Amino acid sequence: MADLKATIEEQIKNSHVLIYSKSTCPFCIRVKKLFSVQYVSFTAVELDTLDNASQYQDNLEQISGQRTVPNVFINGKHIGGCDAVVRLYSTGELAKLLVKGTQEKDPFNKDHTYDYDLIVIGGGSGGLACSKEAASQGARVACLDYVKPTPLDTQWGLGGTCVNVGCVPKKLMHQAALLGHAIEDAKQYGWEVSGDVGHKWSTLVEAVQAHIGSLNWGYRVALRDKNVKYINGLGSFQDAHTIKHINKRGKEAVITAARIVVAVGGRPRYPDIPGAREYCITSDDLFSMPTSPGKTLVIGASYVALECAGFLAGIGFDVTCMVRSILLRGFDQQMAEMAGEWMAEHKVKFQRKCVPTKVELIEKGGDGKPQRLRVEYKNNETGQVSSEEFNTVMLAVGRDPDTKLLGLDKAGVELSKSGHISAVYEQTKVPHIYAIGDVLQSKQELTPVAIQAGKLLAKRLFGGGSSYTDHVNVATTVFTPLEFGTIGLAEEDAETIFGKQNIEVYHSYFTPLEFTVAKRGDNSCYGKLICNKADNERVVGFHVLSPNSGEITQGYDIAIRMGATKDDFDATIGIHPTCSENFTTLYVTKSSGADVKTAGC
Ligand code: FAD
Ligand code: NDP
Repeated sequence: MADLKATIEEQIKNSHVLIYSKSTCPFCIRVKKLFSVQYVSFTAVELDTLDNASQYQDNLEQISGQRTVPNVFINGKHIGGCDAVVRLYSTGELAKLLVKGTQEKDPFNKDHTYDYDLIVIGGGSGGLACSKEAASQGARVACLDYVKPTPLDTQWGLGGTCVNVGCVPKKLMHQAALLGHAIEDAKQYGWEVSGDVGHKWSTLVEAVQAHIGSLNWGYRVALRDKNVKYINGLGSFQDAHTIKHINKRGKEAVITAARIVVAVGGRPRYPDIPGAREYCITSDDLFSMPTSPGKTLVIGASYVALECAGFLAGIGFDVTCMVRSILLRGFDQQMAEMAGEWMAEHKVKFQRKCVPTKVELIEKGGDGKPQRLRVEYKNNETGQVSSEEFNTVMLAVGRDPDTKLLGLDKAGVELSKSGHISAVYEQTKVPHIYAIGDVLQSKQELTPVAIQAGKLLAKRLFGGGSSYTDHVNVATTVFTPLEFGTIGLAEEDAETIFGKQNIEVYHSYFTPLEFTVAKRGDNSCYGKLICNKADNERVVGFHVLSPNSGEITQGYDIAIRMGATKDDFDATIGIHPTCSENFTTLYVTKSSGADVKTAGC
């Protein structure tokens, strides 16, 4: 008993967020959901899986005065059960409790004998932001960036995923597809577009790559201007303060630093099926493909898959999207399905409940002829195996952190099963080693999140800053053909956390004015606000499916972060005629079951 008490006290002392839980208890499920929607990593001790659950509970009662589960501790402090955690979440106090000063574990002595104050491994969104900010704060900084070629030998320059093979080329290609629609609409608006309007893939790729090239150059200049030493080499740990780097020609060198930030991001995952690496592309290859993709199969159903399938179909390719289970896991499922419906109505074919089993080359492309691939796939529900021919097969089945060759074990930094780095406010268990961006365990994989984390970390480490990245209510948009913008909780998550009876959903379909003359279909757009009734109808979820959702959602994010209630939305006077104004006039609740289709202004 005494031993167990000591073990529990040790667990409490050493955990950031610790939840004593029972796997089937609904209150425990609710509390765990609440932490995961805030992107907070937690340790859950599932008492029902242990033989000595009752002794655990006796000891917990002695330590915290609470025998029941969930029993939550944050930074060694007893918080309580489900109600206590939900209350702290609703008042914003939980976020404050989660933040705890970390610098004291990593004191900085300017007179150290290392080569640099800081080495940043990875020159992507997070790494560049962190390097530049640290240098601005007076630190001596080296930033390593090296791009390992894809299995099809695609490579790119400085700037990481977002600039080269992510947000930037994706958004430009999304725009190419939107322009195709605009040309169609233009005829209804009186433009006399004569003859067949065709699209040339190679022109698009050249233009996109030219823009990326200019960004790559800009980043090099920015590093030089800030006095950051840029090293185009693949870095790996030799020990906790020493990094070896190897350049393209195989030349090796070693540098040391007082502090190290790991910002190596992630790379596309390949499923373990024959032909995946040999014949399939990923988003790392798509945006610089010299030849037109032709008939394309996109495998996957999340951000990358739906966005790429959407713009390829919009540009005019024959596109099929192979969905293993659901669209956009983790997102509000009503919205995800609506985004998918629009795609299905706009030429994207969906192959549901299917997974690929083999990809074979039937005929090599060349001399103007496209390659031919045969994809064998299985329907997971019926077990039926089928096959179909495509010119391009794009895998978008998730991304893995790029940590395999980093040698983090030599520095004493542990990796999760998935290869991510777990850290508390970016600090790993080795206090002078930090991680930011996509490589982090349980955080949003988004460029602005990586940038914010990099900047704030550098300010804390070298500028006396005390601000931490807030992962709650981070707005995001899926750039599907009809964009899907979202802030906060999915409806199903709000139900789990607050209880279905405690939330009110206000919603409406709407038709952008621009769609009317273009005859793009009535009531194809939709918005909803999810409100917590017990908290003055505070808005805990915002979702919109419409053109320009990215632009709309960003503005509303400030209001929601500031705690806007439904009354605040109602008191706001809209800008007419816009899609965004619909959020100022929502009055139909989902629970009423009333019709939410609109007609006219
Ligand atoms: P990265 O930007 O991936 O940078 C890591 C860098 O480290 C890379 O240059 C890599 O080559 C380098 N590196 C790796 N290992 C080493 C090593 N050992 N030594 C030296 N260098 C190394 N996010 C959005 O917010 N909006 C979007 O619209 C969006 N669209 C996306 C579209 C696609 C197709 C993809 C794939 C991602 C998209 N993202 C988007 C996500 C966004 O790109 C990432 O969240 C962001 O780039 C992560 O930044 P990072 O700094 O963590 O890593
Ligand atoms: P995700 O991990 O979000 O999704 C992976 C998808 O692949 C899921 O639909 C999954 O299905 C499916 N899948 C996984 N394994 C298989 C398999 N073996 N066979 C068939 N399907 C499979 O990855 P993404 O690459 O789409 O996105 C990575 C991250 O990049 C995102 O989380 C996002 O943060 C960022 N990003 C942001 C964008 C933006 O801001 N607009 C755009 C693009 C990316 P299942 O649900 O069944 O597991």
